[in-house]
Amino acid sequence: MPLFQTLAELQQARKAQTGQLCGLVPTMGALHQGHLALIKQALKENQCVWVSIFINPTQFNKQSDLSSYPSNLAEDIKAIHLVDPSICIFAPAITEMYPQEVISASFLFNGLDCVMEGADRPGHFQGVITIVSKLLEAVKPDNAYFGEKDFQQLQIIKNWSKKAGIATKIYGCPIVRESHGLAMSSRNKLLSSEARKEAGFIYKALIACKNTENKTSLNANIKKIFAEHPTFKLHYCVCLEEETLTELEEFQTATSPRLFIAATVEGVRLIDNIALK
Ligand code: AMP
Repeated sequence: MPLFQTLAELQQARKAQTGQLCGLVPTMGALHQGHLALIKQALKENQCVWVSIFINPTQFNKQSDLSSYPSNLAEDIKAIHLVDPSICIFAPAITEMYPQEVISASFLFNGLDCVMEGADRPGHFQGVITIVSKLLEAVKPDNAYFGEKDFQQLQIIKNWSKKAGIATKIYGCPIVRESHGLAMSSRNKLLSSEARKEAGFIYKALIACKNTENKTSLNANIKKIFAEHPTFKLHYCVCLEEETLTELEEFQTATSPRLFIAATVEGVRLIDNIALK
């Protein structure tokens, strides 16, 4: 399986792919079915597919989160190989992506970063776009694939790439869930089996809100459900227009309202969302 660890090797391999439609799936590894769904989508729509595996330090605002982040390159390579052995993997060292200082560049996001993850995790999206811009610049893919699990990230990437005149088309792919509803995440591996099982209630709560007639009391509904799961700390539960991530004036007239949740259990941050229309 083609494995590349430096930008020079990557660029040489990309030259050999001239004329082929190219798809990129950026990841931080510890791959699960959510990642593999993005990779399979990329395979359907491109002649060559790159998967990057890089734990990007600048998007972590807590050292403990970075140092506990799961990683297993050998397993990731095996999982990708099973999907398609022709997929190119780019797994650089930190010094390759940050040859000088390990810091973010500075970007403006039209306020999209002022809510939810952006508000709770200062600098997170500056770090995300720093690495995404470096990867897009290196691979120069025609298409890049991101998950709707990180919906705010997807909207920020779309907004930034449009403003920056990036030629790569950005695609969002649906959330892949564990059988009991928990959105798949590399961080789920850090949970005890009890917490992981119990965490299925978050998706059930989102579904219950989607099915509720009276959408004015969503927040109260969610708070009530979380009160039944005291080990889970709710950080936010907000209903926003999905394009602009702004508050709804009124549910009836909203175009694409989406409900977003973030919670922590056993020190692990979990996020999820659901379209309400
Ligand atoms: P990560 O490795 O967590 O940075 O994720 C890499 C990409 O996979 C991002 O675009 C995520 O949004 C996406 N992703 C992660 N988990 C899921 C999931 N459960 N379903 C769909 N996409 C996901």
